[in-house]
Amino acid sequence: MATLRRLAVALATAGTAVGGVLVTRAQGGLGNKELGQGGRDSGHLDPVEYGKTFDVGVIGGGIVGLATARELQLRHPHLRIVVFEKGSQVAEQQTGHNSGVVHSGVYYKPGSLRALLCTKGNALMYNYCEEHGIPTKRCGKLIVAVEEEEVPRLEGIFENGKQNKVPGLQWIEQGDIRHFEPHCKGVAAVYCPSTGIVDYAQVARTMAQEFEGLGGTILTSCKVVDLTGPAGEAADFGNGVRVHTQDHGNGFICAHIVSCVGAYSDKIAVMTGCAETPKMIGVRGEYLVLKPEKRHLVKGNIYPVPDPRVPFLGVHFTPRIDGSLWLGPNAVPAFAREGYSYSTINWGELWDAVSYIGYLRLALANADFGLRELYRSIRTAAQVKQLQRYIPELTLDDVEPGPAGVRAIALDEDGNLVKDFVFDSGTATAKGRVIHVRNAPSPAATSSLAIAEMVANRAQEEFKLPGSIQMPH
Ligand SMILES: Cc1cc2nc3c(=O)[nH]c(=O)nc-3n(C[C@H](O)[C@H](O)[C@H](O)COP(=O)(O)OP(=O)(O)OC[C@H]3O[C@@H](n4cnc5c(N)ncnc54)[C@H](O)[C@@H]3O)c2cc1C
Repeated sequence: MATLRRLAVALATAGTAVGGVLVTRAQGGLGNKELGQGGRDSGHLDPVEYGKTFDVGVIGGGIVGLATARELQLRHPHLRIVVFEKGSQVAEQQTGHNSGVVHSGVYYKPGSLRALLCTKGNALMYNYCEEHGIPTKRCGKLIVAVEEEEVPRLEGIFENGKQNKVPGLQWIEQGDIRHFEPHCKGVAAVYCPSTGIVDYAQVARTMAQEFEGLGGTILTSCKVVDLTGPAGEAADFGNGVRVHTQDHGNGFICAHIVSCVGAYSDKIAVMTGCAETPKMIGVRGEYLVLKPEKRHLVKGNIYPVPDPRVPFLGVHFTPRIDGSLWLGPNAVPAFAREGYSYSTINWGELWDAVSYIGYLRLALANADFGLRELYRSIRTAAQVKQLQRYIPELTLDDVEPGPAGVRAIALDEDGNLVKDFVFDSGTATAKGRVIHVRNAPSPAATSSLAIAEMVANRAQEEFKLPGSIQMPH
């Protein structure tokens, strides 16, 4: 299959590459008219130079943006596609700060986008890594009920997983748990053999290299601060989109935009006239790290049965591809959308969050849980006590503080977390010009290649992109 894909790309790009850059305009790109060099017509803003016009601009160099840019470039080799990334390199945010689990899709509501794209993305991710020499480990996952009252919920997860066609799921009786995890205690468990681990930052960097190899452009240290019409008209995208960035003069002009900016998806969506909600907030997740001499205590992933009253999966034991072992993440407030420690505070973003009615409602509804998480964040002994429910041998001396990640969480006005992936195609003149990935929470890293296929399908249809080749999958 991989060879077929490569062959299709080679055929489609044959003879078009000049100096490593695809010649696009004359050969199937959207052309200056479509690109709306409106500055010249209207005279409001200076036109941008040729090198700063693109057919598709993807905002965000995380795993979702890079997978999408790669998929679009594979399907449309003649188009000029650019990725705008505000960081000095790709994968600096959620993609570089997560548990590294290749999820199986066992939890998600049957028929939801998360269920569909996670199960599909799981297989695509393993294939991609195998083709590109990226190490993965299918170490499996045990979801463990430690109290009888959790068993009905565990049964629910088992049935859910079967409906989602998660391969190889097994119900494990109490006495058999030790065959999977010799140091783990519980009353019953579900085993998911298709769960594994990978370094998603490495996957994203590989996608970036592949995309550039196909002729795509990645601009790092390039923060998008506004999107207007080509001549600077607010919210008139009939002739294309001018991408205003922090440090690039007149900016860039793109015929179409795909936004994959994680924590800032609401801010970028608003620039194209979309609704401000769902609003994004940051929820930090801290890890503990198991000392090397204690790694024998855990073989694969060990997860709790999620508490339905709480919107997170719960603290888990996760082996890393580098051999280390992380315990976490918890869920504590972040004082900035990219605030990886208590000392990182962005007052503007903090005010933006706490003055939002949805945030206040969420905080009130989960006050109990939030305070317990804060307490365990400050007192490691309390966190270890929680973990001992699964591995009783674990002691405070066995762990040390580890890294943290910040989840980009979408919240509605009622204070509900938006669980499923959300895509928004805009309204009025933005329609047919923009696609926003508005909510890509876990398992979006697992699902990234499947999300990319879906976005590329939508882009093909909504943007009416020319020069498309059907990719064999
Ligand atoms: C603690 C934690 C654990 C997780 N564990 C897992 C797991 O085990 N498995 C799994 O599948 N998922 C997991 N996830 C979820 C997963 O990491 C994310 O869903 C995924 O990385 C989202 O990718 P993304 O590209 O949408 O976002 P990001 O990786 O956040 O990328 C967005 C990019 O957009 C850039 N950007 C933002 N604004 C602008 C702008 N104005 N201009 C230019 N660039 C901009 C950012 O700099 C960033 O690089 C976890 C997440 C967290 C936080």
